[in-house]
Amino acid sequence: MATAWFQHTPSSLASLQDQLVAAQVRDSVAPFSPLWRRRFSELNRRAATIRSVADLESIPAMGEREVSPTGDPAGMAALVLQAGEAGFALHAEGPALRRAMRLRVMRNDAYQRAVDADTRATSYVFSGYGMRYPIASTRADLDTIARAGARLWAVLGLTRNDVLLSGVEPAATTEHVALQYAALGAGAPALFPGSRPEAIAAAARLAPPTVLALPTDAAVEVLDRLRGLSSLRTVLLVGAPTDAERLAATHAAHRAVGAGDLAVLAVHAPAGARVLWGECRQSGGKTGLHAYPDLDVLQVVDPESGEHTTGGGELVLTQVGMRGSALLRWRTGDVVTGVTTQPCPGCHHALPRAEGLRRHALVSGLGTDGEVIDLRAIATALGGRQDIRDWRIVAGRRGRGGSRVVVRVVANGGDAAAMVIGAAADIRSLAGALPTQIVLSDPYEIQSLRGEHYSERILAE
Ligand SMILES: [Zn+2]
Repeated sequence: MATAWFQHTPSSLASLQDQLVAAQVRDSVAPFSPLWRRRFSELNRRAATIRSVADLESIPAMGEREVSPTGDPAGMAALVLQAGEAGFALHAEGPALRRAMRLRVMRNDAYQRAVDADTRATSYVFSGYGMRYPIASTRADLDTIARAGARLWAVLGLTRNDVLLSGVEPAATTEHVALQYAALGAGAPALFPGSRPEAIAAAARLAPPTVLALPTDAAVEVLDRLRGLSSLRTVLLVGAPTDAERLAATHAAHRAVGAGDLAVLAVHAPAGARVLWGECRQSGGKTGLHAYPDLDVLQVVDPESGEHTTGGGELVLTQVGMRGSALLRWRTGDVVTGVTTQPCPGCHHALPRAEGLRRHALVSGLGTDGEVIDLRAIATALGGRQDIRDWRIVAGRRGRGGSRVVVRVVANGGDAAAMVIGAAADIRSLAGALPTQIVLSDPYEIQSLRGEHYSERILAE
């Protein structure tokens, strides 16, 4: 019998992921992604040499700016796979192919439907931090998303008897679509009244929820408007929270519920992903986000270079087993303290897990100010200049959810003022915006900067 999705050992999980990576590159990415065909040829690599998770490490990770260097979201359409009827026979699994062939003999339109289910993108969600771009799903992908949702329910310790109330805006986002499909996949009733606190409160009176899903940014504000939610036993923070956000939401949730047991757990979809990952109930949120063995390969790169690294760094996602869009070595902009496939100390399942995730840490300015600046693009600009001896990027918060980014540069001899002006121009052209400040500094000064290190030179106050 096949191993259940949560019953892998670390070694069976590793060999499953090797097979899935090889199949995804061979059957989906290489034949149907013009973007990746071009990239493989630029890297002077043959797609057929990518046969395992370890082989992936040798490919530089890719993100929004590599797909669309000008920042034009239209360029991001290149992520969608260009499959069609001719391609279907190449990658369809045996039984699906035989069924389709039989249908073709009998009824051509039924054959076309079977092919379309597996190849044609029929629905889109919009994702991304620096720019919004579409992620395509085929009908078969949506089935996969629903199955992943049923698993998410189990990870969160929920059952079909739970009643979900979602305060996530009903829109074409991974967060909303994945929650909707999770409730459907689990067979649990769910209400999606929108994100206005009064609409959420009215829905809660109508159908008392046992699970309340709220965007992490808005959770405290909404919970403070709710009282007497005596049926509530789980709050889902949508978007990995910081420790401070989790604590504040937990206090607000207890005020809203009164007495009783309550779990506050995170669910999170990195940029580019089509499913939500969850924290297991047994861990109480202490063991990281649980991904899916047959859908997600998690790796880490140095945010400055995009090269493979171990330990902490930028989370990179390779999505396997889905057809609509090709997310291979995708740079999420999230920072993690590590990824692992070792058994979880809480639920004891060997699943890919992302630990210590900081959501969109590498894309700053997502607060009320509106403008967004990509710290990875700043790093590329600074790293490319001969007249800069050393540099640091320091991201910090300022009031009302906004953030500031201070760049400190050390001149490599020469005209320091000209260097600062040149660096500013390079940053503007690569990152699409200027940081809050660019400050000429001395080597001692930047080496004594303190903060949480996302990489050697990118830090957060
Ligand atoms: Zn667990």
